[in-house]
Amino acid sequence: MSKDLASLTLGRRPEGRTLVTASWVVGHKDGSHRLLQNGEVVFENGEILFVGHRFAGEVARRIDFGNALISPGLIDLDALSDLDTTILGIDNHPGWTKGRVWPRSYVDAGPYEMYSQNELAFQKRFAFGQLLLNGITTAAPIASLFYREWGETIGEFDAAADAAGELGLRVYLSPAYRSGGMVLESPGQIVPIFDEERGFQGLNDAIAYIERQHGRHGDLVRGMLAPDRVETSTLDLLQRTDAAARDLGVKFRLHMAQGAMEVDTVRMLHGSTAPAWLAKAGLLSDRLIAPHATNATEEDLALYAQNGVSIVHCPLVSGRGGSTLNSFSACRKRGINIAMGTDTAPADMLMNLLVGLITCRINDGAPHQVRSADLYDAATLGGARALGRADLGHLSPGARADIAVFDLDDTVMAPSIDPITTLVTGGSGKVTRAVFVDGRVSMVNRQVAGIDMEKARVQAQAQYDGLIAKYPERSWNSPPVSEIFSPSYPIEVDTHG
Ligand SMILES: [Zn+2]
Repeated sequence: MSKDLASLTLGRRPEGRTLVTASWVVGHKDGSHRLLQNGEVVFENGEILFVGHRFAGEVARRIDFGNALISPGLIDLDALSDLDTTILGIDNHPGWTKGRVWPRSYVDAGPYEMYSQNELAFQKRFAFGQLLLNGITTAAPIASLFYREWGETIGEFDAAADAAGELGLRVYLSPAYRSGGMVLESPGQIVPIFDEERGFQGLNDAIAYIERQHGRHGDLVRGMLAPDRVETSTLDLLQRTDAAARDLGVKFRLHMAQGAMEVDTVRMLHGSTAPAWLAKAGLLSDRLIAPHATNATEEDLALYAQNGVSIVHCPLVSGRGGSTLNSFSACRKRGINIAMGTDTAPADMLMNLLVGLITCRINDGAPHQVRSADLYDAATLGGARALGRADLGHLSPGARADIAVFDLDDTVMAPSIDPITTLVTGGSGKVTRAVFVDGRVSMVNRQVAGIDMEKARVQAQAQYDGLIAKYPERSWNSPPVSEIFSPSYPIEVDTHG
């Protein structure tokens, strides 16, 4: 019987029973997590057989991770799946001057794909590797449509399904579609334009994709419908989406109550907030997963609670943009299910849990309404509940063997106290030591199955630089890149030689 990590082969399911142990294991009992000191987890063929102390049966290997936390893998329902462009705007405002709203000139010239199909496929594979490096085992990807001709494509999502299978990441996929977009008619004047047929075509493509891909790669790939943003969807498109989700037995994700431009646009078009508009049409249900709720009214939140809508909370991207879910603890008290999402770079769920803890306490004006464990619950149990997956988000016999191992003695870590508090306050996925998805070894010691992340990083940067060079074409009056994204300080270059 081998005892060490070397007995594991990246990208493979170990033969026979594997027992993993560490100073702490997150077990589960009566619907809630438990902390098992020096606990053990045994799994075989992708399924967890045992969680507890002193497993009595035979095992093929025993791996001791030492001072670490063996945790259910993290669930990311707004998972960054491209080379993030929102970070370009962090210190550059307003967005409409920085390539984040299509100017009329770009629309008239004919929007085009700013990446090739190969580049689109590559960035998803690279992003999936980043998610695994951060202990994320289930992902519902999100990417920007600003640099797209219109919606996402079947080709890139076929490639994404294969990448998920090869790297070993559980995914909920289908190409995003929309029936409209926002256009900048003049400085500061942003209006919606619609092409409803294109939205219907996108939905039909997504349905066909799900019918073809759902259950592939040993059931790692499942479907989820993803209309892009409520303000650019027509009622007919959303009704057809909800009906298709019901027929397919999948969820659909729709960004809403997330920004001032959306709130204003939906009010102008439909006379209410987006959640109230959908409620009137009978489209709020537990099929709906709704990032980010940062601009939700009391009425919106009450409607979410009544209808079983799940929120996806992405505190890093929201906080950096100056908004928050107000508040995480208040939404929990209302009985709203909250899942977590990374949404932006870095795709670090633990960082998001820390920011979520901080922003909730600022909103509450007090520290006692939310605990680190509440955020951790959202990233595990909350995500699983949103997906309707009783077999994910916890380590229990019969659950899928989706496991993340986090070091508790990393040299950059805060002093190790309660393991959940330590992880959340540490705020960094860099302490992720190993990841198993469906019992398969997807990441060990920063090595990801199916991709050389060091090499891929070089390719990703070159591709990203190429995209940035195209920004003037979709920025108002086409200023040079140096003007769109001004440097933090004046740049001095070497003029010698
Ligand atoms: Zn989002």
